[in-house]
Amino acid sequence: SGAYAQGKELVVATDTAFVPFEFKQGNTYTGFDIDLWAAIAKELNVKYKLQPMDFNGIIPGLQTKNIDVALAGITIRDDRKKVIDFSDPYYESGLAILVGDKNTDIKDAKSLAGKTVAVKTGTATVDFLKAQVPDAKLKLFPNIDNAYLELATGRVDAAVHDTPNVQYYANTAGKGRVKVVGTVKSGDFYGIAFPKGSELVPQVNKALATLKSNGQYDAIYEKWFGKKP
Ligand code: GLN
Repeated sequence: SGAYAQGKELVVATDTAFVPFEFKQGNTYTGFDIDLWAAIAKELNVKYKLQPMDFNGIIPGLQTKNIDVALAGITIRDDRKKVIDFSDPYYESGLAILVGDKNTDIKDAKSLAGKTVAVKTGTATVDFLKAQVPDAKLKLFPNIDNAYLELATGRVDAAVHDTPNVQYYANTAGKGRVKVVGTVKSGDFYGIAFPKGSELVPQVNKALATLKSNGQYDAIYEKWFGKKP
C-alpha cells in the first residue's frame, strides 16, 4: 500500500556506532535497530538501503528529505517533534554515567561539576548536562566510541550517554577499564524518525504493532538484551 510499496528504495539512516542498536560487524551493520527495521520492511514489503551516518547529521537529513526513515536510538522529544515525525515508542531508555575503573569521586550528575565529561555531538545528553550540570566541561565527539576511548585512556573524567549503550560497552569492549556508576535520567523513549508529514508513519506504526503482538519484537529484543525483566 502507498507509493513506497511500489518499488521505491527507501533511504534508511542509522548511526555509525551505537551498540547494540547499530554497529559495524565486518562489512555489514547489525544490531537491534537494524533487525527491527528489517522486520518492519518485510511487513511493509518495501526495499531499502541502509545509510550509516554520524548521529548529528540524521535530523538535518530528515528535514531536507535526503533520508526517508531513521533508526538510531533517537529519543522522542517535543522540540524534535516540531521538525520531524516519530513512530510510536519502541524502546525505553535513559542516561547513565561511565567512569574509569578506579574512579571513586563521581557518583551522580551533581558530582560531574568541574569535571571533564565526554559526550556525543547533537544528543539528548548534551542538552541534559548543559541544563543540569552547567559547570561540567563537555568534550564533544561525533562518534561515542572515541569518547569511550578517551575515558578508557584517562583523558576525561567521565562519559555520559544512553543507558543501554553505556551498559553494553561496560560489559564488552570496556570491561575491566570502565564502570557504570548509575543512571542520571530515565523514562526516555526511542522512536523511528521520518520527515515531517511522511506517509510512512501510520504504516510503520501498524507494522510495529503487528511485530509486538506476534512475538517478533520480543524475539529481537531477547537476541540483543536477553529476557525482559
Ligand atoms: N538517544 C540519543 C538522542 O536522541 C542518541 C542516541 C545515539 O547516540 N544514537 O539524542
